[in-house]
Amino acid sequence: MATSTKHTTEWHSPRSGDSRRTLSPRPQIANLLAGLAGVGFGAVTALALETEGHSALYSPGGWALAVTRFSGFWGGYLLLLMVLLMVRLPWLERTVGQDQLVRWHRKVAPWATSLTSLHVLAAILGYAQMLHNSILSQAWIFVLHYPDMLAAYVGWILLLVAAFSSIRIARRKMRYETWWVVHLYTYLGLGLAFMHQIRTGIMFLGHPLSTQMWTWTWIGAGVVTLLWRVAVPVVRNLRFGLRVADISEVAPGVRSVTVSGRHLDRLAVNGGQFFQWRFMAKELWWHSHPYSLSALPRPPFLRVTVKGLGDQSSALKDLKVGTRVFVEGPYGAFTRHRMTRERVVLIGAGVGITPLRALLEDLPENRPVSVIIRARTAEDVVHGDEMKLLVEARKGSYHELIGSRDDVSLDAATLTSLAHGLADSDVFICGPEGFTESVVASLQEAGVPHSRIHFESFTF
Ligand SMILES: Cc1cc2nc3c(=O)[nH]c(=O)nc-3n(C[C@H](O)[C@H](O)[C@H](O)COP(=O)(O)OP(=O)(O)OC[C@H]3O[C@@H](n4cnc5c(N)ncnc54)[C@H](O)[C@@H]3O)c2cc1C
Repeated sequence: MATSTKHTTEWHSPRSGDSRRTLSPRPQIANLLAGLAGVGFGAVTALALETEGHSALYSPGGWALAVTRFSGFWGGYLLLLMVLLMVRLPWLERTVGQDQLVRWHRKVAPWATSLTSLHVLAAILGYAQMLHNSILSQAWIFVLHYPDMLAAYVGWILLLVAAFSSIRIARRKMRYETWWVVHLYTYLGLGLAFMHQIRTGIMFLGHPLSTQMWTWTWIGAGVVTLLWRVAVPVVRNLRFGLRVADISEVAPGVRSVTVSGRHLDRLAVNGGQFFQWRFMAKELWWHSHPYSLSALPRPPFLRVTVKGLGDQSSALKDLKVGTRVFVEGPYGAFTRHRMTRERVVLIGAGVGITPLRALLEDLPENRPVSVIIRARTAEDVVHGDEMKLLVEARKGSYHELIGSRDDVSLDAATLTSLAHGLADSDVFICGPEGFTESVVASLQEAGVPHSRIHFESFTF
């Protein structure tokens, strides 16, 4: 395999002109969407309430069937919300950040799964009581005699498999790609479970308006998902036509991958954001991994800098120049839009320096900036020379702290002495999880409020 080690473009030199498009966060839209989600939940609850009555509650199986209806509606609605949180809606992505969206998705997940499971069990119990059947025979009667119930059972099982695969212990033992494919089946599960709701739900039978509303809500969620997860990325990639232009080692085990494409001057991206990268080589095309831009675009070029850790990141060194590249994004809210103060401090370690390098380039002019980099050896500092030049141009301060964790401590006193005006700054941190945690603790000790500490996590 042939990889070029020559720099395709001069990433050290300042970018010429700045006609680059950028997009700001849209908190109003994020708030509107949150409001709509709340209204939707209220509407769903009202729909379930509307079908309840005193006599139905006190007839055989009445209470279990009431639980069936509420848990079914709430569970289904929360499942839709979970899907929508991961749809990559651009306004949410750049306002809230993908890491936060993933955290919300994970918080909702146990509720959605438990409510859906409660719905299944309560339905079996309620019908068994109402029809005087045993629980097992009722479960079987559902499969044999009720429309779309077998599909719904399969959908529920797919949901449970995805839920168990996401439990921390199971997740750790699984390859990321396996977990991802299992997760894809939840879309199938949702599709399979839909028809039984409309064809057996008492709140829909004889209620065309409710049926229409619920159906269009699901169709809407499907369309939005297909639009943002499939159609938009495909169209963008056809337009950009990205290909690998250069690969070069920038530190031991760390490589910069430069790609070139068309119309990149129209790409709206901020320093600190990331894309999902899919390199269309034989063994790699089915992997998609998040990497942050390690510099602002210099059309026709984009650059990422990657540390070889697992299958995909290590294999990038063998990529051929000319390999097609498919990206999704940009995503993430680790950008200058988080700034609330004049002064900025950037603190990084390892390959976590890469988004900071792009963010530094993107900071508004004349902002006082301090950069603190920690690395085991001087060789391990990624893009240190570029950072130094950018800091010099801004007349800021640049510090490399070289040595093992025990030798070099980033405690409150050290940080305060290195970063002028630390307590009145916005601080951006990127590095390994343990590093970030200890720096956040030191910053709080040094008097930086949590709202002004911003960090990017390289694991979801
Ligand atoms: C927002 C973000 C930005 C990142 N930016 C950079 C960067 O600029 N440079 C860099 O070297 N690394 C970056 N990473 C980390 C990088 O994505 C992982 O190191 C890489 O995906 C590992 O893939 P692998 O095939 O080599 O290893 P694997 O063995 O496949 O994965 C190792 C671990 O990486 C994580 N991972 C793998 N694939 C994904 C995925 N598609 N989405 C989320 N997490 C995944 C999982 O935690 C997994 O357990 C970033 C991660 C995130 C979340």
